[in-house]
Amino acid sequence: MNKNFIRKILDFIYPPACPLCNAGVSHHGELCVDCWTAINWIDGPHCARCGYPFVPGYDFDDDVLCPVCAAGKNELDWIRSACVYDDASKQAMLPFKHAGKIKYYKFMANAMIWALRDIDVSNIDIVMPVPLAWRRLFHRGYNQSTLLARPIARAMGVKLDYDSVRRKYRPDMGHKTSAQRAENIRGVFTVVRPDKIRGKHILLVDDVMTSGATFSELRRVLIRAGAASVSGVSFCRVVRAL
Ligand SMILES: [Zn+2]
Ligand SMILES: [Zn+2]
Repeated sequence: MNKNFIRKILDFIYPPACPLCNAGVSHHGELCVDCWTAINWIDGPHCARCGYPFVPGYDFDDDVLCPVCAAGKNELDWIRSACVYDDASKQAMLPFKHAGKIKYYKFMANAMIWALRDIDVSNIDIVMPVPLAWRRLFHRGYNQSTLLARPIARAMGVKLDYDSVRRKYRPDMGHKTSAQRAENIRGVFTVVRPDKIRGKHILLVDDVMTSGATFSELRRVLIRAGAASVSGVSFCRVVRAL
């Protein structure tokens, strides 16, 4: 039996449905048109370094930087995100993260691979999900970032590394300032396998980027452990007016 035939039988038993609203779609893991258009995808001009979306309609050069990156306040090589964190993307994010809706990982990871379309990723050696503290992993049962990182690593043909860095448990910080977030995250990561990190170009994966403090702190410990470069990709990002 060929693969196509098996897929047709499976599609008959389990018809492909939009993971968010259950409407019929043509392929498994795809969003329906309504859910797709509700999400605020970052598909227009954006900061060449951190992916911050600029107002559409303006004709920016490809290498223009946002004020944060222009001021040298972003230390990662580059960051990309597939969409803006808002009410629409929250519909996917919150159940994915807190209610066991792990089937969402497919369209989210595909969107993140699409978000890397203007980046040369050929030098990346390792894809690393942002680690979860053991206590949170125990309660949740899964690291949502690992679910997203695995298909990204596979698409890029590189290794997934989920055990070279450990994270200490720290209670949630709620809605605090960027400075408080940076302070709260400082010192939570420890590189336990520096031999796997040394000289490597690392792509970090997270579900949501808020202030960028998590990526920055992880980058700090990875570079100290000898990583060659650190960049990042998230499904969505909080976009504040700059
Ligand atoms: Zn839908
Ligand atoms: Zn930027």
